[in-house]
Amino acid sequence: MSPTMRCEKCLQPVIEGPDGGYVCGLCYHVVEPWGYEERRKAGIKEAAQVRREKTEVRRQAKERKMKSA
Ligand SMILES: [Zn+2]
Repeated sequence: MSPTMRCEKCLQPVIEGPDGGYVCGLCYHVVEPWGYEERRKAGIKEAAQVRREKTEVRRQAKERKMKSA
């Protein structure tokens, strides 16, 4: 973390986060931490997979219910 880091758009001093990103308090320019894009994509993929599995379980439960009714 560097105390002399400044926003690249308006040169307002900003505080760098633990992963290297920051949000400027003056112009709201956002710099995403290194690797953030990859991590977010991986997170979205994982969430989609979990959602699919849950949907599948629900669908099977519904089919079982319909058969027994
Ligand atoms: Zn700024």
